Amino acid sequence: MIRKQEDTYRHKGLRKKLVQQIREKGISNESILHAIDQIPRHFFLDPAFDKIAYEDRAFPIGEGQTISQPYTVAYQTQLLQVNKLDKVLEIGTGSVYQASILAELGAWVYTIERQKKLFDKNQLYYPFKAKYRNIKFFYGDGYKGLPTFGPFQRILITAAAPEIPELLIQQLDAGGIMVLPLGSDDKQVMTRITKTSSGELLTETFDDFQFVPMLKGKEEG
Ligand code: SAH
Repeated sequence: MIRKQEDTYRHKGLRKKLVQQIREKGISNESILHAIDQIPRHFFLDPAFDKIAYEDRAFPIGEGQTISQPYTVAYQTQLLQVNKLDKVLEIGTGSVYQASILAELGAWVYTIERQKKLFDKNQLYYPFKAKYRNIKFFYGDGYKGLPTFGPFQRILITAAAPEIPELLIQQLDAGGIMVLPLGSDDKQVMTRITKTSSGELLTETFDDFQFVPMLKGKEEG
């Protein structure tokens, strides 16, 4: 289904309110708030969600997956401390909303999705293909990362990781940062791992969140 969606004054107004709510919840990075203001979230959702697309909530995107809550996207992105031209590996493309925020911040985004259906849908219908040429899409198992494209200055996992994926740590550049929701139960602790220039790992923990699980292997069709 190819559908043309419009970004009306109503959508823009709702987006400004959303940005204000996220600011009030404690996100202070102006570049991230600006990116959320720039990107029409309703383009990433089925038109049935048009009226509620700017509520600060996660929504289903099909295949049992979700688009993350905007606050969660902002929170993870703020912890990631992205610089322009950083190579960022994202695990869990999902709706491509998070990847678009990273692209708007000027990063080179490499995003992996394990579900073939979501990957195919994104290849066909991603609405900002022409605008964000700095996103590269991959179908595969995020646990393996993309060794031939690394090392990455930043790695962002957007599904609940039961443990820190060792192969991804190997693909993290010296001085690099990985952000992941760590844990396998019904809540995960947001974790930031910094690799020092000597290769040492520093771990910091933040608030609890709830993500869909990071699963092993890829899923066909
Ligand atoms: N970043 C997304 C949120 C997606 S939800 C967005 O902005 O919309 C998490 C996604 O991670 C789902 O699409 C799920 O299929 C995917 N996923 C889970 N395990 C994975 C793995 N091992 N490798 C790649 N993707 C994975």
